[in-house]
Amino acid sequence: MAKPGILVRFWGVRGSIPSPGPNTVRFGGNTSCVEVNVEDEILIFDGGSGLRLLGKDFFRRGLQPVIASLFFSHTHWDHIQGFPFFPQVFIEGNVFKLYGPKNVNPSLGQTMEGQMEGPNFPVMLKECPAKIEFRDLAVDETLTIDLCPNKKTRSLNVSWARLHHPGGVYAYRLAYRNRAVVYATDTEHTPGTIDQMLVALAKDADVLIYDSQYTPEEFEKHRGWGHSTFEQGARVAKAAGVKKLVLFHHDPDRTDDQVLEIESRARLLLPGSLAAYEGLTLEV
Ligand SMILES: [Zn+2]
Ligand SMILES: [Zn+2]
Repeated sequence: MAKPGILVRFWGVRGSIPSPGPNTVRFGGNTSCVEVNVEDEILIFDGGSGLRLLGKDFFRRGLQPVIASLFFSHTHWDHIQGFPFFPQVFIEGNVFKLYGPKNVNPSLGQTMEGQMEGPNFPVMLKECPAKIEFRDLAVDETLTIDLCPNKKTRSLNVSWARLHHPGGVYAYRLAYRNRAVVYATDTEHTPGTIDQMLVALAKDADVLIYDSQYTPEEFEKHRGWGHSTFEQGARVAKAAGVKKLVLFHHDPDRTDDQVLEIESRARLLLPGSLAAYEGLTLEV
């Protein structure tokens, strides 16, 4: 079988705080972490508690050393808390490049160091044997990763846009050949409008992963909290010509049955929409 262009795997799909328990078994309780593979390149979007599961899977795959790029949407706790429990940071020879929005205070590097300082955690970031590099991304930049560095025959492109969330957030687009996946979590929409920055970023994408924390009924009570709905996700997906909408960042109080209901409602608006669950794999 031909290798897929882009392989997307979901390791954490929950927002705000891990929510294990009998009511979240089907979709999972780990916070945001999405792995994307293009050929041998590994990209990871956010490092919520799902990152720990990804680390365990790297062992199962026998992958060593692990060289990966981590793109952080922002540094709220549910997007970084898995990093101290990512076993690969304690192994020499592994290399991680961590990317995040520029001009935030504290910077991504300072926040990642801070969450591992005492009394929060027993091992400091600078004591970790893996090589960890930080790079802050200006909003008007893009990034090209060469897949065959010697030949430069194939490359993938990562671009981003600033969306609407307390403290700021980036959504990312990964493009490879004629395929594209967009990761847009933690963003609040303004009712009656469609964010044209996001529409441009998601233009003709194969997959849009979108913040669907609230139902439209709940949204009004949570204005200013920085999250959106499946309904708005469907609007954005239609406006951008997206092929598949994936509902993401489920509310921690949402039961499996409630997520299923949200998925059904989304499908009425946009057939083929999917609620992300831990273990979901998409071949794009
Ligand atoms: Zn979040
Ligand atoms: Zn957030």
